[in-house]
Amino acid sequence: MENIKKNIESGEIVWSSIKLQLKDEYGETEYSNWLKLLTFSKIEKEIIIFYAPTKFMCDWILSHYGKKILSMWREKNKSIKDISVIVYNDSKTNKRKDENYTSFKKTISSPETDDFENNLDPRFTFKDFVVGKSNELAFSACRRVADSVDVPFNPLFLYGGVGLGKTHLMHAIAWQRKKLNPKFKIMYLSAEKFMYEFIKAIRSKNTVPFKEEFRSVNLLMIDDVQFIIGKESTQEEFFHTFNALADQNRQMVISADKSPSDLEGLEERLRSRLGCGLVADIHPTTYELRLSIIELKIEKYNIALSKDVIEFLAHKITSSVRELEGALTRLAAHVTLVGRTVNLEIAEDLLQDLLRASDRRTTIDQIQKKVAEHFNVKMSDMHSSRRSRNIARPRQIAMFLSKNLTTRSLPEIGRKFGGRDHTTVIHAIKKVNELVKNDSSLAEDIEILTRSLQS
Ligand code: ADP
Ligand code: MG
Repeated sequence: MENIKKNIESGEIVWSSIKLQLKDEYGETEYSNWLKLLTFSKIEKEIIIFYAPTKFMCDWILSHYGKKILSMWREKNKSIKDISVIVYNDSKTNKRKDENYTSFKKTISSPETDDFENNLDPRFTFKDFVVGKSNELAFSACRRVADSVDVPFNPLFLYGGVGLGKTHLMHAIAWQRKKLNPKFKIMYLSAEKFMYEFIKAIRSKNTVPFKEEFRSVNLLMIDDVQFIIGKESTQEEFFHTFNALADQNRQMVISADKSPSDLEGLEERLRSRLGCGLVADIHPTTYELRLSIIELKIEKYNIALSKDVIEFLAHKITSSVRELEGALTRLAAHVTLVGRTVNLEIAEDLLQDLLRASDRRTTIDQIQKKVAEHFNVKMSDMHSSRRSRNIARPRQIAMFLSKNLTTRSLPEIGRKFGGRDHTTVIHAIKKVNELVKNDSSLAEDIEILTRSLQS
């Protein structure tokens, strides 16, 4: 009895500290949607037992966080072999959980995965990546790298804003390559981890194994390379690693939040090296892409959302796919807990904070100001009734961007442009959509404006 009590107590303590780490890592929203609802029960035969309120949650938590929790726990207690989640049903009765759980129980059982798998998210595959205009170049380049026997471009440099799929694509390359050739030595790590490993090697006064390890891989992928800006010796080491691998014709894939030429503070020689292969950018998502992503995810999560809720999400949550996922998982959690589908009103209510955050991001005034500057017209021309092409065009572009980058409705946008009718706004959007098809310099203008408004 004493023993059991002790076991629970120390387990509780470990679990609380792991929960804090998880909260840090995944953020408040994801944490309270899922992880908070997982309760520790006991440790039995080196298996940690948790309770979750529904079967859906049990599946979700195990597939999304199971390995992570297990490896965190094993850092504190090596003897732990597995985790198991039991579904209980305490919403309707007040009985003790133990007497009340259903027979559903699931474990992950993957005690000794190698480093390769530990570093990679099993959900990030090509199959689960939705391709649209904004990411098709990056996607095809990654597929080429994954499927080629030779080295198609070195390095492949991926860049784009946060939450747009860079990490996802890199993991997808790794999974695919490994599938084609299990012997292929692949190393994926963040630039931060690279620095950390390098410093560790320096501290131990032996950098040889570090160098050897990195220089022996067939494919090296470094994520978020902007992290090493300003870290001189890490940059230098990275430069040498890069050259050594390039000399042996080994493939490298690098990601960053900006293009090599825009990464201020990066050493010149490294910058030119990074830009000498294929540079592929991932643009902000389009409405259509967001729709397809939502459709794919709700199918995977196996939740039903009505068309108006799906369209509402695609319109309102525009900043990144990560936020879109955050919104969807929150709705999914609600559906499984309450057991009812969400309508538009409930969705708005549940996502209030996310919606407010994305509303704050860009305002129509900011868009008008930026566009006016960019095309060298007066701010007042955004509201004026002048129709000459050199004024009307920028105005249409500003309307187009207002629809894409804010959550304002068409009539609201019309009002902001000197009290125009919503049909004028529709016309402007159509027009711009048509023009960009054949006018690449206009497409580029829009791209530049979008980026600078969203940064
Ligand atoms: P980044 O590394 O660019 O910040 P991530 O690759 O981490 O972004 O993507 C954030 C989340 O969005 C991930 O869960 C990823 O699976 C998802 N995601 C991003 N782009 C897509 C896409 N085109 N299709 C499906 N999921 C996507
Ligand atoms: Mg990333």
